[in-house]
Amino acid sequence: MIPLVKVKLFQPFTPIHKWSLPNIPDDIDIYIKRDDMTGSVLSGNKVRKLVFLLCEALATGCQAVITCGEVQSNHCRTTAVAAKQLGIETHLLLRSRSENLSETGRHGNMLLNSLMGASMYLVPIKAQEKTDLEPRMQRLADRLQEEKGMKAYLIPIGGSNVVGLHGYLCGWQELLEQGVTDRFDDVILTVGSGGTAAGVAIGNFLTGSHLRYL
Ligand SMILES: *Cc1c(COP(=O)(O)O)cnc(C)c1O
Repeated sequence: MIPLVKVKLFQPFTPIHKWSLPNIPDDIDIYIKRDDMTGSVLSGNKVRKLVFLLCEALATGCQAVITCGEVQSNHCRTTAVAAKQLGIETHLLLRSRSENLSETGRHGNMLLNSLMGASMYLVPIKAQEKTDLEPRMQRLADRLQEEKGMKAYLIPIGGSNVVGLHGYLCGWQELLEQGVTDRFDDVILTVGSGGTAAGVAIGNFLTGSHLRYL
């Protein structure tokens, strides 16, 4: 399924510049794509996936979004900020070692989540996505429907599903437009929930690029 619409939430064409790293052989040049510069509070890679996810939430008439991650999750914070910009309510299930929100500290992403007015619920650190988090998100969605008559949109950890994947298919298109296939031999990515890597790998494959992907 190809999404038909998207929302504008970030600054595309993040710069690519030379990166000096220690202990790199002289004949290897390393460059970095600055996807930390996609926008001020939203900064980071997660927003590229949320463009498609939150658009689907709006298109299906959802007034709330529910997602999950660790207590200081960048994905959860980015969701809270982006949803706020679109007038969608955010509910976050956060894995934590403590059971009490006051013990998690109000700093970093937790501070931004509360500034955005996101509702936060702590879940055990060992909670598994399929068996624990998904059923809990569904129960919360049912409750929002019953108590507030609100339809909620569920987003998996990291926003990495088939819809979110389109963020980095477009990210790959952007890299092509920035001339990566002329300028480089390899692409190296970090992996968390895998959506970024999957989008770039599929884009690389489908466009028949010669770049080796690590
Ligand atoms: C989420 C994240 C990643 C990994 O992205 P995934 O799409 O979840 O694999 C890498 N770096 C940073 C800083 C992140 O926040």
